[in-house]
Amino acid sequence: MINIYNHLLLFIDPVGHLAISYQQAIEQLLDAGRRLDARGWVAATGGNLSCRLDDGSVAITVSGRHKGDLVAGDIMRVDMNGASLDGKKPSAETLLHAGLYRVRPEVGAILHSHPRASVLYGLMLAEAVVVSMTGYEFLKAFPGVATHEAVVALPICDNTQDMPALQRKVDDWFESHPEAPPVYLVRGHGLTVGGTTVDEARYTTEAVEELLAYELERSRWAR
Ligand SMILES: [Zn+2]
Repeated sequence: MINIYNHLLLFIDPVGHLAISYQQAIEQLLDAGRRLDARGWVAATGGNLSCRLDDGSVAITVSGRHKGDLVAGDIMRVDMNGASLDGKKPSAETLLHAGLYRVRPEVGAILHSHPRASVLYGLMLAEAVVVSMTGYEFLKAFPGVATHEAVVALPICDNTQDMPALQRKVDDWFESHPEAPPVYLVRGHGLTVGGTTVDEARYTTEAVEELLAYELERSRWAR
């Protein structure tokens, strides 16, 4: 078997993220919000979407707006500690974005969403700290993976409303697993994916959700 972490290093070049302008970020985040909404993965006002900007700050969706209906004014700028740079109110989950950007300099965009399989699978594996998947042809949707024999292993954290505590847990995990792709699940909550670009983060979000939907379906046969 082949560990996906080795392969993901192929596409996550340490200097490969494409920091973009605020205007470009607005366009890309609005587009990503509509696409995630079309799949039903950001129901109600769920999820938050961000890009690393070329000035070292982060563009991110404001708190409480529907991601399918975003307009330019629904994007704000925060610093690498998640603090507002323009007076707008960030979501509590902004800390999770800032943390992942800090520990993973290659990450240029982060999409946090609430897809159904990603939410449910974490609850089903009540004690697990890692979700591992293998044997699926669809594993090849991950960049650098050439065989269904690859193993995709993703961390899963317990949910909490204490975002600083969750951020520290996530940061610790990625700092102690430098080979791991910038992807994690929060149990009963959702999926967070970093990519070098918004599109790459979206493709990986789709791949993870598809694979977890397979795993959920498979678990029903096993009963
Ligand atoms: Zn969330």
